[in-house]
Amino acid sequence: MKKDNSFIPFFKPLITDDEINDVNKCLRSGWMTTGPFTKQFEKDFSKYMKRGQAVAVNSCTAALHLALEAVGIRAGDLVLVPTYTFAATAEVVRYLDAVPVLVDAEEDTFNMDMHKAEDILQKIASCEHVPGVPEQHNGVKAMIPVHFGGQAVDVEHAKRLCSEYELFLIEDCAHCCPAYYKTEESKEWKMTGSSADIACYSFYANKTITTGEGGMALTDNPEWADRMRIMSLHGISKDAWKRFSKEGSWYYEITAPGYKYNMTDIAAAIGVNQLKRADDFHSSRERIAGIYNKGLKNLRGITLPSVKSGIKHSWHLYIIRVNNNESGISRNEFIEKLTAGGIGTSVHYIPLHLHPYYKENFGYNADDFPVASELYSEVISLPIYPAMSDDEIYRVISTVKTVLEQSEK
Ligand SMILES: *Cc1c(COP(=O)(O)O)cnc(C)c1O
Repeated sequence: MKKDNSFIPFFKPLITDDEINDVNKCLRSGWMTTGPFTKQFEKDFSKYMKRGQAVAVNSCTAALHLALEAVGIRAGDLVLVPTYTFAATAEVVRYLDAVPVLVDAEEDTFNMDMHKAEDILQKIASCEHVPGVPEQHNGVKAMIPVHFGGQAVDVEHAKRLCSEYELFLIEDCAHCCPAYYKTEESKEWKMTGSSADIACYSFYANKTITTGEGGMALTDNPEWADRMRIMSLHGISKDAWKRFSKEGSWYYEITAPGYKYNMTDIAAAIGVNQLKRADDFHSSRERIAGIYNKGLKNLRGITLPSVKSGIKHSWHLYIIRVNNNESGISRNEFIEKLTAGGIGTSVHYIPLHLHPYYKENFGYNADDFPVASELYSEVISLPIYPAMSDDEIYRVISTVKTVLEQSEK
């Protein structure tokens, strides 16, 4: 048999004729901006996630920004954010001149450590020093946990902290379409994001479902949804997107200096079709994770992802950790060898506290967040997506094994 040595990219979306036909339909209709496809996508998505209100926007970053604005986050407010996340989770706090207070990660799940969050909340309440917190502030007003890679944070603990300290719970669900968790009292699976005041999803090109660029904010609170809808389109009066349509009116009122965050119908035409296959995509990623778990089991020098009980992982990311001492190879060299072996990988993430902006403006050090700093030096994200062939899945496994064998001391 001929061996296929073509490069396996880190991610490839799975686009079918359904998406292409609906994008065609959208283009032929002459209505490209927010319109019927966007309304359909909002309806389908809120039904799928079982939330009352959905606001489609052009990114998850936009959704997070609108969510913080809607609940009333203002200059000088503090917001708890994991350091082990993507730029977006914290920058949106800065958009409002509020201050992101970084929290270290849990060793096993990489999620925001709720015990450390609790410790920070206690210290701030008793005016003790906490890294990154300025002298003048209005107190902690919200937290934005990220369900890292698609494994839910300890939601019950987060909810308890939010009620005790009167915080809004904005969940960054960029990796969670879909993911599930069970709590101790209720034995039923819940969708990750279901208990957030506002949950924000991403449809960026390499997320679990995609619209190229896109995002969605979900809530059960109609007032927040209205506010987000208005602010997503220049702060102008409701249903502004209809103003150039038959049902629309030319008249509008500016009620606030809003943003330009609305989703296009071209994107939504992709989204409605991707969402229909979200469960199939999920099963497919679960299957790949299962094959990796088996194929990479008990190898000296790497650690496989750890999944807690009561969790159904979305498997947006499959991350191995390279143990320098045992593998005889550094993470960076490991990545180079995988690339040379035809495997695309990525690193999730360079923690926020190691980036110049956060170091210089908030005075963070690597040892303020020992767990995140260590995880960062060890992680490699392997390809995991429904468009992977079995041959590609097994080539990833054999290449990882070869790299380990070659580097044995
Ligand atoms: C991708 C991502 C975002 C941002 O999503 P966009 O749709 O690209 O704005 C936010 N948070 C996390 C954790 C992400 O991975």
